[in-house]
This record gives sequence, C-alpha cells and structure tokens, in this order.
Amino acid sequence: MFNLKNRVAVITGASSGLGKQMAKAFAEQGADVVILARRIEKLEELKEELEAKGVKCLAVKCDVTSTEDINNAARLTKEKFGKVDILVNNAGASKDNGVLDMTDDEWDFTIATDLTSVFKVTRAFANIMKENNYGRIINISSMYGLVGNTAISTVAYHSSKGGVVNFTRAVAAELAKHNITCNAICPGYFETELTKAVLDTNEFQAYMKGTVPMQRYGKEGELNAAAIFLASDEASYVTGAVLPVDGGYTCV
Ligand code: NDP
Repeated sequence: MFNLKNRVAVITGASSGLGKQMAKAFAEQGADVVILARRIEKLEELKEELEAKGVKCLAVKCDVTSTEDINNAARLTKEKFGKVDILVNNAGASKDNGVLDMTDDEWDFTIATDLTSVFKVTRAFANIMKENNYGRIINISSMYGLVGNTAISTVAYHSSKGGVVNFTRAVAAELAKHNITCNAICPGYFETELTKAVLDTNEFQAYMKGTVPMQRYGKEGELNAAAIFLASDEASYVTGAVLPVDGGYTCV
C-alpha cells in the first residue's frame, strides 16, 4: 500500500519546513517530484537530495501569489512529465495582527499568500489532472483554520486557513466527476522557519502544555503519513475530508 511509483507530485513551498519534509517523503514512496518556491537555490539543493533517492525532480522558481509564475510552473511540469497526479498546496506565510489593529496590507498579504494562492495553483494543476481523469489534491490548512486562539492575534491567518477548509470541500464536490479527490490537512504546532521564533519562547511552551493534549509540538516527519495516505491510490474514496494532525489541540 501507499506506493507512489510513477506518480508525479507537485509541492508548493518545498524550500523549507513541512513542504520540504513532504517532498522527501513522497520521493521515498517512489514519486517523481515537482518542487516550487521562490528560493530557487534551496530547491536546487533539495533536487539533488531527491534525485539521489532515484526519482526524477523538477525545481521551479514560483511565487504562488503570481498567476504568471503558477501557469509557467504548470506548463513546465506538463512538458517534463506529461501529467500531474498529486498536488500539495503547502506554501504559506502570515502577517500576524488582531482585528482591531490589522492593516489592509497585512490582511491582503495573508489572504493572497494562504488562500488565493491555493485557488490559483489548484486551477492551474487540476486542469492537467482532468486530462488524465485522475488526481489527488491535498491542501495544507491549519488547526487555526478550524478554531480561533488566545495565544497570538492572527485574524487574517485564521480567515485564510478557514477559507482553505471550505475551498477543499467545494473542490472535492466539483471535481469528483473527474476522479480527482481534494482533502485538507490541518497541522498543529510544528517547529519550522515560520513558527520557530514564537514556539521557542517559554511563554508559548507553557501555553502549549495547557492546550495540546499530547503536551508537545509536532516533530519533523510527523505530517508525512497523513499526506502520503491522502496522496495514495488507496485513498480513492476519501474526498472533502479535513484531517487535523495537531496532537489533539482541536479535540478539547
Ligand atoms: P516555512 O516558513 O518553513 O515554509 C513556508 C514555505 O512556503 C517555504 O518553502 C516558502 O518558500 C513558501 N512560501 C511562502 N510564501 C510563498 C510565496 N509567496 N510563493 C511561493 N512560496 C512561498 O513554514 P511551514 O513549513 O511551517 O509551513 C508550511 C505550511 O504549513 C503553511 O501553509 C503553514 O501555514 C502551514 N502550517 C504550519 C504550521 C506549523 O506549525 N509549522 C501549523 C499549521 C499550518 P520561499 O520563501 O522559498 O518562497
């Protein structure tokens, strides 16, 4: 089960953190991997690492807020591999602020990077999936897409990630007739470039101990099994699902 050999997997935001971890995990399952991000030098390093695992890899510089970049990445993927089987919408960033203080620019930045990008990337790559009547779309939302929180004021992030959850359901319903599934993963607290500065503080660790039943952050690699499951042939009847991987944060 869960063999991804001969599958082509596209992962956005693969230059660091969870995206990089998932790219490695997909390659280990045998998938050829298309890695996208803005820091092309980091992607080139990862490409070498992935090719050493015996799979093919295409690295493309792509800002997920740019329709032009996205369509270019989709074109290059089609040229190299002729198809797309798996898409992981993982790229994300946030300008954190509360509703009372958030500026228009902070709001627009976060919605563009975390929600509108997911629509644009899905549009580009799902059109290729449709040609082959096969697809697995996995959207990396967040547990913050399911609830509010009392630790950090980050209203635009909650809004965009909540949007990703219902975008997932809408796309699942629309594309089922093309044999394309669409599911969301909602990670909890994982230490990455995005979160390290906040998660490392004593104050936040104390907050985490009181709110995460497992009393720890997610470890490197702990998101991979969920992504591989949803990307697999075997998950053929799972669509529109929202899977928290959060140590229990959203169950209490
Ligand atoms: P990182 O900051 O480590 O990685 C973010 C990735 O997104 C980088 O590869 C970055 O690449 C890419 N990215 C950011 N903006 C853009 C852009 N405009 N265009 C293209 N790529 C972009 O963060 P994580 O690995 O932690 O986050 C990955 C996803 O997981 C995000 O969607 C995040 O919201 C979500 N998540 C993370 C959690 C955590 O605790 N870590 C918890 C819940 C959700 P580059 O800068 O090279 O473009």
